[in-house]
Amino acid sequence: MPSGPESKRPSTRAKKTPLSTTVVAEATESPIADAGVDANAAEAVAGGAKPKRGKTRGRARSKPRAVMLPVLVVDETILLPHMSIPFAIEDEEASMVLDRAMRLPSRQVLVLTERRVSPLTDVAAAAASEDPEVDGVFRELVADALAEAMAEEAAAEMESGGANSAPEAERPENADEEWQATADDGDEEYELCTVGVIAEVGHRISRPGGHSHVILQGLARGVVEEITQQDPYVVARVTRRDDTVDATPEAEAAMSAVLEQVENYISMLPNVPEEVLTMVRSVDEPGWLADLIAFSPEFTPDQRQDLLEQLDPIKRLRHLSVVIQKRLNVLNLRQQIQHEAQAGMDRQQREYFLREQMRAIQKELGEGSSEETVAAELRQKIDAAGMPDEVKAKALVQVERLEQQHPFSPEIGVIRTYLEWLTELPWAVETEDRLDLNEAAKILEDDHYGLEKVKERIVEYIAVRKLAGDKLRAPIICFVGPPGVGKTSLGRSIAHAIGRNYVRMSLGGVRDEAEIRGHRRTYVGAMPGRVIKALRDAKSRNPVLVLDEIDKVGSDTFRGDPSSALLEVLDPEQNGTFSDHYLEVPFDLSKVIFITTANMLEPIPPALRDRMEIIEVSGYTEVEKLAIARNFLLPKALESHGLNAEQLTVTDGALKRVIEEYTSESGVRNLERELGSLARKCARRFAGDDPPDAMTLEAGDVSEFLGVPRYDYGLAEEQDEVGVATGAAVTSVGGDLLSIEVTVMEGKGDLILTGQLGEVMQESARAAISYARSRAVSLGLEAGYFDRRNIHVHIPAGAIPKDGPSAGITIATALISALTGRKVRKDVAMTGEVTLRGKVLPIGGLREKTLAAHRGGIKTFVLPLKNAKDVAELPEVVRSGLELIQVSSLDQVLDVAFVPLPAAVSPAKNGTGKPPSKKRALPAAAVTAR
Ligand code: ADP
Repeated sequence: MPSGPESKRPSTRAKKTPLSTTVVAEATESPIADAGVDANAAEAVAGGAKPKRGKTRGRARSKPRAVMLPVLVVDETILLPHMSIPFAIEDEEASMVLDRAMRLPSRQVLVLTERRVSPLTDVAAAAASEDPEVDGVFRELVADALAEAMAEEAAAEMESGGANSAPEAERPENADEEWQATADDGDEEYELCTVGVIAEVGHRISRPGGHSHVILQGLARGVVEEITQQDPYVVARVTRRDDTVDATPEAEAAMSAVLEQVENYISMLPNVPEEVLTMVRSVDEPGWLADLIAFSPEFTPDQRQDLLEQLDPIKRLRHLSVVIQKRLNVLNLRQQIQHEAQAGMDRQQREYFLREQMRAIQKELGEGSSEETVAAELRQKIDAAGMPDEVKAKALVQVERLEQQHPFSPEIGVIRTYLEWLTELPWAVETEDRLDLNEAAKILEDDHYGLEKVKERIVEYIAVRKLAGDKLRAPIICFVGPPGVGKTSLGRSIAHAIGRNYVRMSLGGVRDEAEIRGHRRTYVGAMPGRVIKALRDAKSRNPVLVLDEIDKVGSDTFRGDPSSALLEVLDPEQNGTFSDHYLEVPFDLSKVIFITTANMLEPIPPALRDRMEIIEVSGYTEVEKLAIARNFLLPKALESHGLNAEQLTVTDGALKRVIEEYTSESGVRNLERELGSLARKCARRFAGDDPPDAMTLEAGDVSEFLGVPRYDYGLAEEQDEVGVATGAAVTSVGGDLLSIEVTVMEGKGDLILTGQLGEVMQESARAAISYARSRAVSLGLEAGYFDRRNIHVHIPAGAIPKDGPSAGITIATALISALTGRKVRKDVAMTGEVTLRGKVLPIGGLREKTLAAHRGGIKTFVLPLKNAKDVAELPEVVRSGLELIQVSSLDQVLDVAFVPLPAAVSPAKNGTGKPPSKKRALPAAAVTAR
């Protein structure tokens, strides 16, 4: 900020004090001053000649000479060099000043702005500002002048003492309102700026009834050196400062940057004539260009004064560039806001017109859906829905709310959706049960092959329902088994058998309580939970609702616990008034028959498991799969592809190939899919250009339709080997065989475990080694044997077994084989947990494991004695195809698994401590299951 002598506004005229010499000295020492006006220029000013561009170039430089000029004091910066303005002479002082100027040979006057002093602190802060765009010299000038001014304040006060109370009348009569306002404020202070514009005064033009005017033509900057007179008007000693005109690259760069900004700026303003831009482009002097731009009405008088005080043209341009950029940013923002506002308006208006049109069309068609008709329809629906009274009352309140809404209120949609949900729920719809046991048994038989026990259990369930009716607090059935074994479709069959509607809802991956129970209506886009949706879809309040994959419900501390919500759904004590967050009214779920399915039992939360009756549905044998394919899946696939049994015959051989080589699963889901794609490919032939009358698919044709076979399953080893034993494991798709390999090598007693070993399996491996160490002597191993060896246990990848202890005896067998060098029979597979003392404990998944063994070409299967009860339930093919040997100790396992020693081998060396036997004398408990 520039500085000058300070004064209270009313006393301004009496208070013009000489400017500090410091300011002037600083100014003259600056590079601007060095490159500045020379004596000739001053003379030119004195002679009234218009400054010519380029006139300073190449001239000898001398100190600019000051001239005495009358000062026309103005309230704001109205003039810049090279510009001209008409000036209305509105007061006595101006009249005197201009008269004086016109009498000078040069007809010159200094147009100087007087402005309000900002509070000192602000000015000081501005002066100290580190803004690189603020000229350093300028800042120093201000700081010095400020210091000077502050020091002289007291003296100045005294000097102008009497004038402080100068009458208000000294202000021009038509002083603007702003001035009036500030003038009332006794604390306001004013000062004269240090830099003004030297202007040539044109002829005085008088207009009747108005003020007379003069044209002021700005010539150059004038720096006030000293105020020599204050009354009756101000006279000052002034140094003229013309801009240096050096066409440096820096100047050109600054000019083109500013020009670009100006073009940009103008393009954003409406109605700016093309000539403006042409005029701006025609200026090729940096200082002039800056002044021309600053003269535009887009700049405030203060900004103009700041630029006036910037004597270096390049710095002036840079300063200007910052100001324009700020304006550009503001304009950009403004445009953006306008654009958004406009877009919003347009959309609203469009919607309004469309709605009006729609209404008009509906009226024309006699389908008026005015708010009244909507409300009337909703009332009807509420009546018809048979809701309990409290629900009905609540619904009617909502209809009233709907009627009170403004036609465009966003609430309307929310309320209507809510009421639609309420009215669509089957509050009073109930289907009648068909509790004919023979009929039910027949339906179950027709829908599913095999599964005798399961079907029997279902018929019992229906029988109890028949006797006990709705009072029955029967446990919820939970079908547990691998995927694709028919758990879900059993649920559908149950619904079919007792004549109820059927709905299914999957719980896989549900982690949020709100998915079960809905979101509260305050939530944007709220919806009811899955249970309520399922009931709406069921269209009766007593459907069979299958909750699929209940073992896959997750829980998340942040989103509530879905299983506790499920508990409320399933618990007969609570589900009579199940409350969904969205509905906010209770719905009675007590008449629903819930059936749940799960792949595994363990992940089901205990609280839920307690309420369930678990029915295991295990995998199918190849034979069963063949029967299912032949009798159920193939006919379904043909039908859904528009084919019939006469057209397409699929032989058993072909079906077997599909089962064995294209699927690997306990259930039949993939089998169903593969048969579907077979049917689709055949359908294409029948629909093609040259359709055959009929087709027969043999085993050899399968790959033509389904591509390269996808699976091979675990098979028995090809020969008896040392250190390899065959186990049977449950995998995610059923059962499979797995070879466990053990190698003993030189080392320091480390155990190395590699391959697909879960934690429990690793424990089993350690237990097996401990067992072997404890039996070192009887195995014929020398003392310290284990300390000098490393033992490596490996389970080759392939089938990925579920982690569990049942590989215990297999690992131990492979290990002892490796330690003793005895071969293990390739046609023996085994399963069982082993203890440190060599006891064999029972395991699960016997059905899957024996099925895999049978399929893999195993002849003898070793299983824990304690699993004897499960043997009876094994499929017939397994029982007749495998020699099942039940054991209770590891010794018995080894007896069966090891290839018998030739008679010459001594008992001490064979590792078992028992006489070698050609016939297996043990196990005592060995029985075949037949
Ligand atoms: P899960 O629920 O156990 O995963 P699904 O119920 O979805 O299996 O069964 C997959 C498909 O296999 C269904 O089309 C089903 O009808 C069929 N399916 C499964 N088991 C049998 C069976 N024993 N008899 C006839 N079809 C079966």
